[in-house]
Amino acid sequence: MDHYEILGVARDASPDVIKKAYRKLARELHPDVNSEDGAEERFKAVTHAYDVLGDAEQRRNYDMGGQSNFGGMPGFGNMGDVFDAFFGGGQSRGPQSRAQRGNDALLRVDIELVDVIFGGDREIEVDTAVLCGTCQGTCCAPGTGASRCDVCGGSGSVQRQVRSLLGNIVTATPCGSCRGYGTVIAAACPTCAGHGRVRARTTLDVHIPAGLETGQRVHLRGVGEVGEAGGPAGDVYVEFHVTPSEVWARQGDDLLATVQIDMVDAIRGTTVTLDALDGEVSFDIKAGAQSGDVIVVKSRGVGHLRGSGRGDAKFGVQVMTPGKLNAKESKLIEEFAALRPAAAPHLAEHRQGLFAKLRDRFFTV
Ligand SMILES: [Zn+2]
Ligand SMILES: [Zn+2]
Repeated sequence: MDHYEILGVARDASPDVIKKAYRKLARELHPDVNSEDGAEERFKAVTHAYDVLGDAEQRRNYDMGGQSNFGGMPGFGNMGDVFDAFFGGGQSRGPQSRAQRGNDALLRVDIELVDVIFGGDREIEVDTAVLCGTCQGTCCAPGTGASRCDVCGGSGSVQRQVRSLLGNIVTATPCGSCRGYGTVIAAACPTCAGHGRVRARTTLDVHIPAGLETGQRVHLRGVGEVGEAGGPAGDVYVEFHVTPSEVWARQGDDLLATVQIDMVDAIRGTTVTLDALDGEVSFDIKAGAQSGDVIVVKSRGVGHLRGSGRGDAKFGVQVMTPGKLNAKESKLIEEFAALRPAAAPHLAEHRQGLFAKLRDRFFTV
């Protein structure tokens, strides 16, 4: 069964709908509450489906037919959501940790078409936050530490009795003195002003997959900014933009270019040698070539994103007719015309077939 069927949602379901469907099924199928045969298997399948569809990037990958080759093992992901399903979520007990997860970041990076033919590695400089070297994330000045909050006794919350018509109600609110952390810092670290992290410029290594297209993102886990109080680093998403080429157009993994040849070469045939994006490419143009002919050079296109191998390079032929002739050339053309009377102009049949569309592409780039 397909992940969407397992969760019982439409393929275009919103993240919210998917989350709700998952929670409902998780409540029904969780091994703690459902001992029916197969319930546990279904619970694992449902959880795995949600691991994939609940993550925007994995969902896109799955929709494109890819394997969900990253992400949790079946049945072990998103335990937080399982607990949320049972307990309503968000109610933390005990003092809050100062450490916060760092924010995720989206970086846009321009690359050239040649970069996606084979893929490659790129170093990207980023302004980010790193762990404070002085306090190592404790936020305290050297030689000092956080001490237990006297007001709440370290619990992070204070209980208050409130009188109501139904009797006394005890409510817990975050402690105002320690802001819910349960500890107070007497002397903040001077380097990071008590944040546990400092601004820094660092370098990220990013792999550009072959076959990548403009707008696609690479997800780098845990390499983003370090959080407050030395909390875990956020993720970085790198969104690549492939600068359009003046010469090459891309169609899937095929590269298209127009090759202009002289009328004389078109008549006699020739061998063309060109600088392609990845080095020289050489091919024959047969005698009697016409504008609109397409020559395919196998495996000289863009590397496939999935699997090995490359697309093809396709060259659309454009025959160039000389505009100006000198006296001698004119005389020769007259002689040629006398030998071989030109066919009368006529309306051609519309050229159909595999290359008709390609040809349009060549001459509109
Ligand atoms: Zn510090
Ligand atoms: Zn307190």
